[in-house]
Amino acid sequence: MPLVSMRQLLDEAAKGGYGVGAFNVNDMEQIQAIMAAAKDTNSPVIIQASRGARSFAQDRFLFHLILAANELYPEIPIAMHQDHGNSFETCKSAIDLGYTSVMMDGSLKEDGKTPASFEENVAVTKRVVDFAHERGVTVEGEIGVLGGVEDGHGAGGTGLEHVTDPDQAVEFAEKTGVDALAIAIGTSHGAYKFTKKPDGSVLKMDVLIAIHKRLPNTHLVMHGSSSVPKDLQDVINKYGGKLKETWGVPVEEIQLGIRNGVRKVNVDTDNRLAMTGAIRKVLWETPEKFDPRDYMKPAREAMQKVVAQRMTQFGQAGHAGDYKAVSIIEIAKGYKDGSLKTKPLVAAK
Ligand SMILES: [Zn+2]
Repeated sequence: MPLVSMRQLLDEAAKGGYGVGAFNVNDMEQIQAIMAAAKDTNSPVIIQASRGARSFAQDRFLFHLILAANELYPEIPIAMHQDHGNSFETCKSAIDLGYTSVMMDGSLKEDGKTPASFEENVAVTKRVVDFAHERGVTVEGEIGVLGGVEDGHGAGGTGLEHVTDPDQAVEFAEKTGVDALAIAIGTSHGAYKFTKKPDGSVLKMDVLIAIHKRLPNTHLVMHGSSSVPKDLQDVINKYGGKLKETWGVPVEEIQLGIRNGVRKVNVDTDNRLAMTGAIRKVLWETPEKFDPRDYMKPAREAMQKVVAQRMTQFGQAGHAGDYKAVSIIEIAKGYKDGSLKTKPLVAAK
């Protein structure tokens, strides 16, 4: 099957009532880990690349690795997504290359750091939506501003400075026509999300639920949603690492989100922790080793284990065979004739 439109993949997830993990990649081993997990759990999957990843892998290496995944696993629906596009040009370059989905993060200015105004966000996102939908490509937008910094992208802070306003989310969805919407509910990028186990005072699940009620057809996206499990932190620290104590988003909170319209869950940090821990262990226990395969193989296995676990927890496991990919040319027709138009249940005030 060809690479799948993320819109189709998320529409199917909505029908099935499950969430889909979107896992970040930079290299071959990470893609192999995701695909092995997808095959083992029979899961559709979103593979995403940040601007930093595209630059690290010289863009084409990464894209062709995804095509290899697609060739080797024709039975698995794969959407290829640009994570945190900072401008129209970044999104266009991903679409021109063959990505089936892009995120236009207009919540920040092009520098990827400074919060943008609502009007600026609407304007740049709408421009990307017009260009992308004409080509059958999915668009994720962001309203509100997430906390933390990852890959040099982010406004910093705790994530509670710019929590999404539900009215604004509805207005944004109406004005831009995005397929998916990342919202800020107190989560942050990176490993250091929370200094204690998060509760209702830091994770605004009530905001998420309020937005979903009004935008039932716009797929919600949780960013900064690694769980940062203690056992993965412990492996790193046991073998010479120096991570400070930290908490991520508990899986139960993500599952509550999935019951309330979250269809895409971004996970990066957990996989980074798993790989780094596995590499540290090999180098620490057998310092005489120098073949990269000696530590990349366990690293790949460690990431595969985390990804498979998330696929099961998010509910996407078992759903790879539910549908066949619709070509993005067909999807483009759906945008044109209005059948894929998303409408708020109650219009913005
Ligand atoms: Zn993000």
